[in-house]
Amino acid sequence: MKEKCGIVGAYSYSGKTVMPIVMNSLKALQHRGQESWGVAAPDYPPYKKLGLVAEYNYDFVHVIQSIITPVAIGHVRYSTIGTSDFRNIQPIQIGDEFLIAHNGTITNSYELEKALGHEFSTPTWVSDTHLVGLRLLQFLRRNNYDWFRSFELLSKEIVGAYCFIILTKDGDVYAIRDDKGFRPLCIGKHKDTDSIIVASESCALSITGAVLERDINPGEIVKINKDGIESYKFSEQSNPAHCAFEYTYFAHPSSYLEGKSVYISRKNVGKMLAKRYHIEGDIVIPVPDSARPAALGYYEESGIPFEEGLLKDRYGRRGGLRSFIQPSTQKRLEITRMILPLIEAIRGKNIIVVDDSIVRGNSSRQIVRYLKNSGAKKISLLSTFPPITYACYAGIDFPTQKELVAYQSGDNSQNIDEINKRVADIVKTEFVGYNDLDGLCEGIGFPKNKLCTSCITGDYNCFKNKPKVDKKKLEK
Ligand code: SF4
Repeated sequence: MKEKCGIVGAYSYSGKTVMPIVMNSLKALQHRGQESWGVAAPDYPPYKKLGLVAEYNYDFVHVIQSIITPVAIGHVRYSTIGTSDFRNIQPIQIGDEFLIAHNGTITNSYELEKALGHEFSTPTWVSDTHLVGLRLLQFLRRNNYDWFRSFELLSKEIVGAYCFIILTKDGDVYAIRDDKGFRPLCIGKHKDTDSIIVASESCALSITGAVLERDINPGEIVKINKDGIESYKFSEQSNPAHCAFEYTYFAHPSSYLEGKSVYISRKNVGKMLAKRYHIEGDIVIPVPDSARPAALGYYEESGIPFEEGLLKDRYGRRGGLRSFIQPSTQKRLEITRMILPLIEAIRGKNIIVVDDSIVRGNSSRQIVRYLKNSGAKKISLLSTFPPITYACYAGIDFPTQKELVAYQSGDNSQNIDEINKRVADIVKTEFVGYNDLDGLCEGIGFPKNKLCTSCITGDYNCFKNKPKVDKKKLEK
């Protein structure tokens, strides 16, 4: 499963350099993309690297010291469309006009490519973001429309999920969020540099000492330049479809999305699991790290003692990486192998293990094996996210349907008890308990009609333009 990206932009009204803000914000967004990163500022060539932002201190310090600028944007990447190589590192330069950074997935990029005609060369490696940028450039050039109007026209052509941050050649910054608000995007103020910051999540503001002002609304474009901030609504208000998976797995627990604390949502989802499954366990442990708040919630609701039974190897170079967003099964398992069992906590115990989700089941099987080898007596594995049996067309790149363990269980009837039993057999443990849709929504704190849950229900009505079904993703 892959999800793409974290984005940030900063604009200082007092002319102070914002590059330290952008670099630190990217570090705080690293959980959203761990393949590559890039930054861009007017009058400087974009600086791009494979790997993590903080991997080489030299790059971090070098960028901050050499790019002195009151305006900059940045991106951390995880690929869903477009190859995972240097050419697709963002921000991407589009003509001489602008640079673009994207979080999301455009599912009809092949249609955009067709609409471009022969005006641009589009080799096979170009990403959906690149195609969106070129199409936007066509609207700007051909029709001489302003940015707001051009994007409004473009929005009618694109299907999928997107948040964009754009830096124009004049040094203006645009932050754009799709009309369903699938992916998060927020705006804040940094007092010391008199800056406005836009970023995927509020954790990217907090780390710099900036204060969150608000979320950018679904269907809104915010323009930031020397004249101040201007907001434009490019789409009529409709029910949002915020990605439920952001709350249980993807976003940073310290972030606030749509006014909700991700940490509290996760704890509440854990409490919902405890209400649904009354298990006689000796201890409850999280699968590190994203399930920790949910395991705490389970403990608070059930009274069963919380323990750290599995620890990530934080000192190895790759130990702190997230397994889900690794680009291959082998790499995902490598990260899971860096989880170390705490034998003293585990031996001889009935253990309730809380995970954020069970997607393919490979990592779960491996964790069950570790715990058994460490002497666990009985393992009950709980998932805060309900069974995933359908493709995502809004920015999380789930595997093909046949790779989804809940789908493999052979029961697409949403009968959770039946799926629980079959997945328990597949991951070779005594009990599996998935959350259900009601428990998920109640825990997050939104009614169902404000969340996207298509990968659970197969209902894609939250898309304004329905995604075209990708046969490869749905094939049996
Ligand atoms: S389909 Fe699932 S993963 Fe994709 S946006 Fe909707 S809730 Fe999130």
